[in-house]
Amino acid sequence: MNTFEDFNIKKQLRKAIDELGFEKPTPIQQASYSPILGGFDFVGIAQTGTGKTIAYLLPILQDLKFSDQLQPRVLILAPTRELVIQIVEQVEILTPYLSVRVLGVYGGSNNIIGQKQALTQGVDVIVGTPRRLYDLALSNLLRLKSIKKLVIDEVDIMLDFGYKTQLKNIFEHLPAKRQNILFSATMTSYVDELTDGFLINPVKKTISISGTPLDNISQECYAVPNFYTKANLLKHLLEDKIEFSKVLIFVGTKVHADSLFEILNSESEISVIHSSKEQNHRTKSIEKFVDGTSRILIATDVIARGIDIEKITAVISFNTPLYPENYIHRIGRSGRAKQQGRSILFYTEKEMVLKEAIEGLMNYTIPISNIPEEVEISHQLIDDEKDKPIDEINISDKKSMTESGASFHKKSAKNSKAKTEKKSYNKTLKEKFKKPIRRGDKIQNMKKKKKK
Ligand code: AMP
Repeated sequence: MNTFEDFNIKKQLRKAIDELGFEKPTPIQQASYSPILGGFDFVGIAQTGTGKTIAYLLPILQDLKFSDQLQPRVLILAPTRELVIQIVEQVEILTPYLSVRVLGVYGGSNNIIGQKQALTQGVDVIVGTPRRLYDLALSNLLRLKSIKKLVIDEVDIMLDFGYKTQLKNIFEHLPAKRQNILFSATMTSYVDELTDGFLINPVKKTISISGTPLDNISQECYAVPNFYTKANLLKHLLEDKIEFSKVLIFVGTKVHADSLFEILNSESEISVIHSSKEQNHRTKSIEKFVDGTSRILIATDVIARGIDIEKITAVISFNTPLYPENYIHRIGRSGRAKQQGRSILFYTEKEMVLKEAIEGLMNYTIPISNIPEEVEISHQLIDDEKDKPIDEINISDKKSMTESGASFHKKSAKNSKAKTEKKSYNKTLKEKFKKPIRRGDKIQNMKKKKKK
């Protein structure tokens, strides 16, 4: 399935593709064409820019027969009006030689009366934001029982925008027998929830950021006991302003991103972005980072995925991502355009199992660096660190569900032994502290520091 010839698509679609000048299918297109055409439920983990829209549109349009029925057969849900417009445009550029009626519906300036009128003319593919779509379904002009294929694009953003309830409401109007296709740039617990709750034996494919070979990126990791020690280590690393001249720091949650920002805040040098920040603030933060006014950008996975910034010298994963795919997305931010990239991962003992999952996905063991002597070890714990350890069984289930993209290989067995890794985690800590960490070690460290 490496060429468009292999797809064996109908000549009208083929002509449109040729006119677009596409030479060959992108990896996500190669991975999704057959399963989607075959009618399987499908989960695609791929970022914008990988050709993911055409990855689902092509098999859907290939399978769509001419019809003059009024109610739509394909429903595509997208989180933003901009994305709805883009998807509609992509349907249009693929179908100049086919008779396919497509309609985009969304809130805001585009008025609902016009959309209702368009619906009465008959539609094959309806693309919409969840809220507007649901309003139309309630108006009875749009009857979702006719839907045969449902696509949810940018599931991670949907969750971030709080569309869960709207989606649930829409699902209740859809026929039980339908094909479900999910696309998300990052893996999230919501993708899992949807996969478990609504999809039937889905085919799952993950595509790394295209053009980012991992061997371009030097990787290292630090075993760090807790959040505050991570902050201390980070401060220490960032003192090197040449090596860390443009650093993207990934943090697991919005709350942690804000806390870290407060801890590190040194006026103009640092910016923070996550989805709770106003659009204006986000744009300004990114601009400052791009033009070099701020050297450091703290971001969460979901919000950072849309930004394309050149010449990032290092990506620091302050937390170990819950889903291994997200680590690959993160480090792909560094090492772009054939430049050498650098990735540094911090992991606590609880996060060890997540690090293993990442190593399994890459089939590569990330070299461990020792925490420098001058970094103070904190014993203060944040609330999350007082919780139970992450459920290891759950994580390994997720791992086995994941099928990796072209640049990865199947996990090697050696990484799956949590017990052995646990030992090495303690060993790493011992190497630094010469003995297991106990209460009072902080005082020892402070004494040591004073002596110097
Ligand atoms: P997307 O990831 O869907 O946002 O697509 C990113 C861009 O890639 C869009 O402008 C598409 O038109 C373009 N694109 C999609 N498939 C291909 C392909 N096979 N070859 C070249 N460009 C493509």
